[in-house]
Amino acid sequence: MAIVDYKQSGGCDVWILSAGSVRMDGGAMFGVVPRPLWERCYVPDERNRIGLTMNCLLVREQGEVVLIETGFGGKVTEKLREIYALNESDGLLASLEVTPEEITRVVLTHLHQDHAGGCTVQEGEEYVPAFPNATYYVQKGEWEDAENADGQTVNGYRYDEVMRPLSPVLSLLDGDERICPFVEVVVTPGHTRRHQSVLVHTGEDTFCFVGDLIPTTHHLKPIYVMAYDLYPRQTYLVKQEIMERAVSENWIMVWPHDPDVAWGRLRRDDAGVYEVEYVT
Ligand SMILES: [Zn+2]
Repeated sequence: MAIVDYKQSGGCDVWILSAGSVRMDGGAMFGVVPRPLWERCYVPDERNRIGLTMNCLLVREQGEVVLIETGFGGKVTEKLREIYALNESDGLLASLEVTPEEITRVVLTHLHQDHAGGCTVQEGEEYVPAFPNATYYVQKGEWEDAENADGQTVNGYRYDEVMRPLSPVLSLLDGDERICPFVEVVVTPGHTRRHQSVLVHTGEDTFCFVGDLIPTTHHLKPIYVMAYDLYPRQTYLVKQEIMERAVSENWIMVWPHDPDVAWGRLRRDDAGVYEVEYVT
């Protein structure tokens, strides 16, 4: 079952879809935060891994069907599958009446394989776009950094299987841009140099898919920054800017990796602590 949640908003259908679950090192997920603190949020297994989800957002409005992120999408060795305890759902759109051909746009926060892997599928010996009629969007700088990955960054990407096949259907963005009347991207660097967040304006609500800027609701504390982040100081600063906007503009935040809370509005209490108000 891929549908996690659904909301009708301003004439748009908005779904949270799960691309499956994954286990990642708890220490890496929480950076400098000591284990006695983060293990109150997630109990690690015997290999120190915590269970996470890979959630995506699907928005349909009149002629447009926009998919934000795609999960891992297979294409991993058995060894990697075991390391990450990867358990993918049986097709992102499996339980929807939407077909891959109907997707008009695919927007990616960044190109790491747990976010972009599902952009392509294997056809014989070839890899081809999984959504054949869609234009795919990512920041130009993110694409270039992934193309020129070095020893520190290369393991996050899948160049031959995921990126190369997308080249003909790619739209590279340079900064904040509006992609279509109801979808806007905002550059939110830190996790990578040109990571972006995606805003969906339905007329009734604004949804913000924050990507790995704030992977779970347990990363709302500004110093809870992942060790995976290439620029942790920037994550610390940009995260607070985005959360300020989220509170003042009453956004519905969408967290890609939170196994328990897919989306919610943010509130800040008198002590300045951010809390989640659940969407009903
Ligand atoms: Zn990432």
